[in-house]
Amino acid sequence: MSICEGCEIDEKLLLCCPRFPLTGEQVDYKLPDGGKSRACLYLDADGRCSIYEKRPMGCRMFECDRMSSAKRDMRLNEESLPLCLRMMRDETWSGG
Ligand code: SF4
Ligand code: SF4
Repeated sequence: MSICEGCEIDEKLLLCCPRFPLTGEQVDYKLPDGGKSRACLYLDADGRCSIYEKRPMGCRMFECDRMSSAKRDMRLNEESLPLCLRMMRDETWSGG
């Protein structure tokens, strides 16, 4: 599961998808608990981007603190692996 898939809708509405970045457009958005909020017109009822493959550059480049710290942790974990293990793993991957 990607970090964004595990993200709560409240966070998405606050941080990354409160409006369409190219136009600033917002629409009414129905929350899972029945409440209402405002969101980018492309955020679907499941909290996913309905134009994900064609989303604007601003959306592609956006990185919240949670995502930055997850990426940093992944990088640190990667660097902590012994070089021989990394090479063995990479050979397995390239052979697949
Ligand atoms: S970018 Fe951050 S706030 Fe947006 S969905 Fe991903 S984890 Fe959540
Ligand atoms: S286009 Fe997609 S990723 Fe960008 S703000 Fe809207 S719903 Fe979020």
